[in-house]
Parts: sequence; C-alpha cells; structure tokens
Amino acid sequence: MGTSTRAKTKKKTTSPWEMARGQLDTVAQRINLEADLHEMLRNPQREITTYLPVKMDDGSLKVFTGHRVQHSMARGPAKGGIRYHPGVTLDEVRALAMWMTWKCAVVGIPYGGGKGGITCNPKEMSQNEIEHLTRRFTWELVNFIGPDRDIPAPDVNTNPQIMAWMMDTYSMGKGYPAFGVVTGKPIETGGSLGRNEATARGCVFATVNALDKLGINGNVKVAVQGYGNAGWIAAKLMHEIGHTIVAVSDTKGAIYNPKGFDPVKVYQHKQKTSTVADYPDAEKIGDMEVLEVECDILIPAALEQQITAENAPKIKARIVAEAANGPTMPEADKILAKKDVLVIPDILANAGGVVVSYFEWVQGCQAYFWEESIVNDRLKEIMDKAFNNTFELMKKEQTDMRTAAYMLAVERVAKAVKIRGIYP
Ligand code: NAD
Repeated sequence: MGTSTRAKTKKKTTSPWEMARGQLDTVAQRINLEADLHEMLRNPQREITTYLPVKMDDGSLKVFTGHRVQHSMARGPAKGGIRYHPGVTLDEVRALAMWMTWKCAVVGIPYGGGKGGITCNPKEMSQNEIEHLTRRFTWELVNFIGPDRDIPAPDVNTNPQIMAWMMDTYSMGKGYPAFGVVTGKPIETGGSLGRNEATARGCVFATVNALDKLGINGNVKVAVQGYGNAGWIAAKLMHEIGHTIVAVSDTKGAIYNPKGFDPVKVYQHKQKTSTVADYPDAEKIGDMEVLEVECDILIPAALEQQITAENAPKIKARIVAEAANGPTMPEADKILAKKDVLVIPDILANAGGVVVSYFEWVQGCQAYFWEESIVNDRLKEIMDKAFNNTFELMKKEQTDMRTAAYMLAVERVAKAVKIRGIYP
C-alpha cells in the first residue's frame, strides 16, 4: 500500500460546529422537537474566551487563546474535557461541548455538557510552560467552573498532571481544597481507579455488545486510528479479550500487519521513538489507510472529521466504534449506513470516560473510594444499558444508531429544559 490517499481523504466541507448543529437539526425534525426548545439547544448557554499570557522559558512572552463553552446545564453541572492542540477553535469547542450534553444524557448521568481548549502546541512546550499556561487558564475560569458548576477533565494532549494543576490553582483561588472541580486526577489527589482506561474500556464494552447483536463470534480483526489514551488502551483491551490488532496509527505514521501484532509492544516502541511508525513487526502504510485496511472493527480514536465521503466507500469494517469525538462526517454516515456498517456513535462509544469521571466525582463528594473492580462493573452496567436502549430504539425506528442515540439524548435534555423553564 502507498501513501497517496492521505491528502485526498482529508477534505473537510463543514466545521465541527456546523456538523454538530446539523445532527441536532436532523433529530429535532424527527422527534418533532418544539421550535423554541430546538432554538435554545442549538446555542450554548455560556462561552468564555480568554487570552493567556505565559512567560516562556527563553524569557519571551506569548499570549495563548483559551475557550470554555458550557453548552447546557439543564441536567446538571457542565462536564467535559480540556484540549491542548494547535487546531483548537471556538467552533470546535462549541461542537465538543454540545456533544458532551448528548453524551451525558444518553448514558443517563446527571450532567450537562461543556468543553474547553487552548490553541497551542504542547509538543513544542516545556512542562514548565504547560504548567504556567494551565494555571493561568484555570485562574481565568475560577468563577465559572466548580464541583457544582462545570467540571473539566482530560482530552487530547491533557493528562492527570494537568488536572492536578487545575485543581490546585482552583483550590488556591477558593481558599480550600476543592478536589471535585476536575476529574481524571492522579489517584494521590482524589482520582478514581479505572479512570485512565475508562474511555477505551467503555468503547470495548460497546463493541462487544455490537458483535453480539450482529452474531459475530470468535476472533475479529481490529484497526485503530490514533494511539493515545483512547486508542492505545482500546487496542490493548481488544487484544486482551482475544482479538487481533492489524493496524494502528498516530500523527507520525501508520502500520499494518494482517497477522496482527502485540499492541503493548507497539506502545513501548512509541514511548521510545514518539511514534508507532517504523515498528519492526509491521508494514508502514499511509496515515489515512489505517481506516481502509481489511478488518472487522474500526476504532477511530484521533480527532474529528476523519471518515469522509471519499474514504467511507473504502472502509471494510463491519463495525465502526467511535472512540474519538465527531470522527465521521454526516455524508460518510449515509455511505456507511448503505453499506450496512454499524456505527456506534461517539456519544455512546466513548462515554466510558465521562461515566467514570462521574464515579470519580461521586467518590470525591463522599470521600469514599471504590475498588477498581467496582468501578469497572458499574461502568459495564451503564454502558450495556445505554447500548441496549439505543440499539432497541434503532430497530424500532428503523434508523441508524447515531440517530437513535440522539433521539434518546435530545428528548431527555429537552424535557429537563422544558420542566425548568427559561426565566430567572
Ligand atoms: P491523546 O492526546 O491521548 O491521543 C490522541 C492520539 O491521536 C495521539 O496518538 C495522536 O498522535 C493521534 N492523532 C492525532 N491526529 C491524528 C491523525 N490525523 N491521524 C492519526 N492519529 C492522530 O487523546 P485521547 O484522549 O486519546 O483522545 C482521542 C479522541 O478521543 C479525541 O477525539 C477525544 O475527544 C476523544 N475522547 C477522549 C476521552 C478521554 O477520556 N481521553 C474521552 C472521550 C473522548
């Protein structure tokens, strides 16, 4: 295989925000959502944009732009990750915040939706610079986030250490230790066992349910795009339950071996070389070809808008489990549906992360921490229930799984908005 398809398959036609609003519009029409409620849900409740001065290690000053969007707090405090990436825009954060609202609703946890991001390239920054950026951002948000208001968590390029700095800065601002302000914290500072693996574990529970519903038994072949928290752990867990990982990728390259490889060894290789590319026991392929290889399960676990009208016809997988947020463009969704590919939508497939974040918050509120097996069992219970409810509705409505998940979620949020009313 060559590398030539990469540029051609990356064409984007709509922004993530237009895409997210379009998905809501489609479902609003289908469930006859009242026009007023629809209009409210098309807009975020609150947006904060802040400019963050940071003294860089060389003595220069750089001003970064950060956003926090609270899409909805109708069902509880806003909840959603913080992303550090050069591509972060307000529109992207808005879309991710809206998707969080639906995600919390579809799995039935008592949160609204929020998301944050800073336009920066953490790969070119020192730990010292990242810490200062994080603390300044938290300081700007100190009156807008909180255990009862809005609870950030890790997302692309953010991690437990960054969450600990956020929690520490927020606590300084408030004058007391406020562990519940963020989730995804290190265990030593109020984190939950199982949180690090939760997104991937939830995605694997959903995938196993899908295999079962489709009557696919035995060993299956899996391809994973993105080898970070969500992607690499999903590969590891799928491998642990006996499946074959045939292709994986990251920003620097992609590898393929039809006979499979050990994802842990690939991870160790990535730790040494900073990429999965050049892993000795596999063939190097084009970055985007990871989506098109011969496999049964495709797990997009990188960024949004990867599966497009151009590459969707070439996808061979029977199941696409969206560990990433927004990886499939709406026109690609239609193509996959025609090909009878079961797409487990992001708001369901990657909800494991926010479910265990919820557990972390509950454990923190009660100051009573659970064994990892309890965390994983309760995660399974919630994921299985949400999967089955969505699958049944999909069959009943003769639609695709994304539409069914949105129908469940939007109805739940709209009901809460309606019952609460709109005036202070
Ligand atoms: P991460 O920073 O740990 O990893 C991201 C990975 O994707 C990296 O390996 C990076 O090299 C790779 N990547 C980025 N662009 C790529 C591209 N174009 N092609 C191939 N690889 C690419 O981030 P993460 O936390 O694993 O998040 C990945 C996705 O999962 C995001 O969409 C995120 O919103 C979603 N998600 C994460 C969580 C969580 O708990 N971490 C929860 C829900 C959803």
